[in-house]
Amino acid sequence: MKAVCWHGASDVRVETVPDPKILNPRDAILKVTATTICGSDLHIYDGYIPSMQAGDIMGHEFMGEVVEVGSAVRKLKRGDRVVVSSIIGCGQCHFCSQQQWSLCDNSNPNGWMQEPLFGYSTSGIFGYSHLFGGYAGSFAEYIRIPFADHGAIRVPSEIPDEKILPLSDAFPTGYMGADFCNIQPGQTVAVWGAGPVGQFAMLSARMMGAERVFAIDRVPERLVLAQEFAKAEPINYEEVDAGEALKELTGGRGPDACIDAVGLEAHGMGLEGFYDRAKQAVRLETDRPHVLRQMMVACRKGGTLSVMGVYSGFIDKVPMGAAFNKGLTIRMGQMYGQKYIPKLVEMVERGEVDPAQVFTHQLPLEQTKQGFEMFKHKQDKCIKVLLKP
Ligand code: NAD
Ligand code: ZN
Repeated sequence: MKAVCWHGASDVRVETVPDPKILNPRDAILKVTATTICGSDLHIYDGYIPSMQAGDIMGHEFMGEVVEVGSAVRKLKRGDRVVVSSIIGCGQCHFCSQQQWSLCDNSNPNGWMQEPLFGYSTSGIFGYSHLFGGYAGSFAEYIRIPFADHGAIRVPSEIPDEKILPLSDAFPTGYMGADFCNIQPGQTVAVWGAGPVGQFAMLSARMMGAERVFAIDRVPERLVLAQEFAKAEPINYEEVDAGEALKELTGGRGPDACIDAVGLEAHGMGLEGFYDRAKQAVRLETDRPHVLRQMMVACRKGGTLSVMGVYSGFIDKVPMGAAFNKGLTIRMGQMYGQKYIPKLVEMVERGEVDPAQVFTHQLPLEQTKQGFEMFKHKQDKCIKVLLKP
């Protein structure tokens, strides 16, 4: 089959690779009908996620049609149309039983690689390095789905792919980001990053009762989408100081909750931005925590920080004193897809939300490299690219 393989930073190639096979009785094989580039793929494309190997198939946000099921698969059959959580969970361990799917004890065969770094191992993720299980990803014609009864969620055939595809990752991630804020009616929520994850976080915050939502980014068309999609109030951090603007907009108190939808490649400004870039370049720091620092200072006393942007290793110069003395609650993690996706499918079915609005481009799988360049550099006002195998 055709697949997009990683060969190093900024080097992805369309290659012919062996078709996936059922390896375990709970596996299913899916024909991928649509997949998309996530902000997390950019971290791999830019070489910030360790333990990738040349030839690894990338991609983890996808949907498709079931073409084969293992002998122990109960809920799925050939021909079913499904959207798949990017996170792989066994459905039976202590953590999956509590709906904390990205903390699964059993889905990461390379857990031993994580233990020295993280203390305990986390779940596997499709197409997301050997540290996260070494699973083949979705930038391919076919993909193997382990624990398929849990990760693959059936969707009605009449809803088009582009309305369902973000339910694989960007939408549940944004939704969890808002859910972690425990939003009370009338509260204010500030979201850093108006990429797809940020857009869904803003929309979800509104649906959960936030009275005002602020969108912080510097890309004009993303700020415009945030206004249309989530009725957010835009703050362009290149034009104004985001922290000062938030203070002003919240009557001097600060937002009740802050969501990080940017992660380890945050664009920093001034001396601090230079400091992070330099340290990251010589590997003295793996991640650039510019947004985290800003959130700790900007959030109101007693407020909540919800970190959905990905961090992979170590960060530096974190204003812990601000977070501690202001009594902040900090929640974070890879998303719990299997917990949220069924609810989001129902919302789309009822027509309450149209996730397709984040897609600006569609390309054939052969042009994945162009897709990466467009998405990364925001060329042609790109916000999200749908890839068709
Ligand atoms: P994206 O790259 O399109 O979005 C990032 C946005 O942040 C861009 O619009 C960029 O302009 C903006 N940005 C950069 N620096 C900023 C700064 N200093 N202040 C404010 N905004 C800034 O990617 P995305 O697909 O929306 O993903 C966003 C993040 O979410 C990534 O880190 C991704 O890895 C992460 N993610 C996490 C999970 C999870 O399970 N927790 C799942 C999916 C994605
Ligand atoms: Zn599990």
